Amino acid sequence: MLQLGIMNPLSPKTSRRVFFALISLALGGALLLFPLSLLADELARTAQELKSKYAAELNQLASWCDEKGLKAEARKTRNALGPHDPMKFYVPALPAEAGPPKLPPDAPPAVVEWDQKFNRLRKEQAAALNELARRAMRSNRPGLALESALDAIRANPDNESVRRLFGYQKYQNQWRTVYEVKKLRQGLVWTDKFGWLPKAYVKRYEEGRRFCNNKWITSAEDAAARRDIDAGWLVETEHYAIRTNHSLEAGVALGQKLERLYLLWSQLFIRYFATEDDVIALFDGRAKTQPPGRRHLVVYYRDRADYLDSLKEIFPDIEISVGFYQSRLRTAYFYADEKNDFRTLYHEATHQLFHESRPVSPKAGKLANFWITEGIALYMESLQVRDGFYELGGFDDQRMIAARYRLLNDRFYVPLSELAGYGMEKIQKDPRIATLYSQAAGLTHFLIHYDRGRYRDALVSYLSAVYSAQDTEHTLPKLTGAKFEELDQQYKEFMAKGDGNSSSK
Ligand SMILES: [Zn+2]
Repeated sequence: MLQLGIMNPLSPKTSRRVFFALISLALGGALLLFPLSLLADELARTAQELKSKYAAELNQLASWCDEKGLKAEARKTRNALGPHDPMKFYVPALPAEAGPPKLPPDAPPAVVEWDQKFNRLRKEQAAALNELARRAMRSNRPGLALESALDAIRANPDNESVRRLFGYQKYQNQWRTVYEVKKLRQGLVWTDKFGWLPKAYVKRYEEGRRFCNNKWITSAEDAAARRDIDAGWLVETEHYAIRTNHSLEAGVALGQKLERLYLLWSQLFIRYFATEDDVIALFDGRAKTQPPGRRHLVVYYRDRADYLDSLKEIFPDIEISVGFYQSRLRTAYFYADEKNDFRTLYHEATHQLFHESRPVSPKAGKLANFWITEGIALYMESLQVRDGFYELGGFDDQRMIAARYRLLNDRFYVPLSELAGYGMEKIQKDPRIATLYSQAAGLTHFLIHYDRGRYRDALVSYLSAVYSAQDTEHTLPKLTGAKFEELDQQYKEFMAKGDGNSSSK
């Protein structure tokens, strides 16, 4: 779908601060004596070895459980690795509760022994991965650093320094973000249905009462007063402010989806909005977090009719859109729709995050390299929640299925050397726009996942260059260290192999 957001990337005056204090740190001199690529290979190998060793140890422990007849414990041990398709990016949904689950006081001695062995393995793995993450960051391998940190928190969600790295602190025996602690200290509690509420209000809200203008009214009265979007509910989450005239509950549900996107985006693209020194300091546990900058603004209409009606005067092309981001107003607009699969939401909100998380040039993507700004939004559309993980990517995602079909069946392919020269207008006026978008989706997936993420860091640098209009038609080969023709070839092999990419690792 052609969204209005892509037609109007006007200049935003971004003033949002990055989240980390500016601590400058020179890279250790000794480190620079080694050729970086050799060091990078060594780090990637160490990561692989740590993973294999951990898998073998878990397996061994699971077999020990089998021998003792501990069926449930054997299953838990085997499941500890979690999903690991290299064609997907995973972030675990972390528990708020601090500390591993407690065993019942009457647990048999064999279970107690298993619990100790299991926790020791997990702790050791997390500590080793955390160390590796810091080394990788100091060697300018943010992609590998993040992956190691995510594997560390997966192994042990209570590893203090990795928790801190991801912005958590311990508060009343729970892992909380700075923002959450502030809210809790104000006497508020989070409810999945109504968002942040004073603790004393929760029961009455559940009974259908609403507190409005200093008095209690019914939810029906509240809804009637908020028919107009300007009088709508204002839902605040950690990084978003959402105005809606649908319902308080729908605004809160939307906020939770946006926060998930934010979480994944801010981890994958940390080097887009924070400097190398900031990130090194963060991985070393020395960064002070700053209060978040301005919230991202979102307007969420009760239905499509209301969306069209409210916006047609300011945006004459609104009819062809199903949601869009307007960078000049720094606002994303959506409407409630039962058939909505939230792909448009994730797509447009991704444009918003790239535009509002650091200064962006009004010329971004105008002259060249426009495809990547769409490719990355198409990739982020794939967000899924599955088995305690947030996932992105995968050959089973509909954008990848379409991209492979266009390439392998239709034989449609614009060589990268040509595509890189296309600016925004060229692509938007091209009759092949839908197919070009498909190719952009496939290429982006390739740059993120090919050969265990070989080009992931280059991709982030590429996006930074494009959004600050410091790119040329040759930026991509320069950053990846691979010629256009080489990338074309690798892409075609990657797409032809499909899921075979995963099983060969
Ligand atoms: Zn777009």
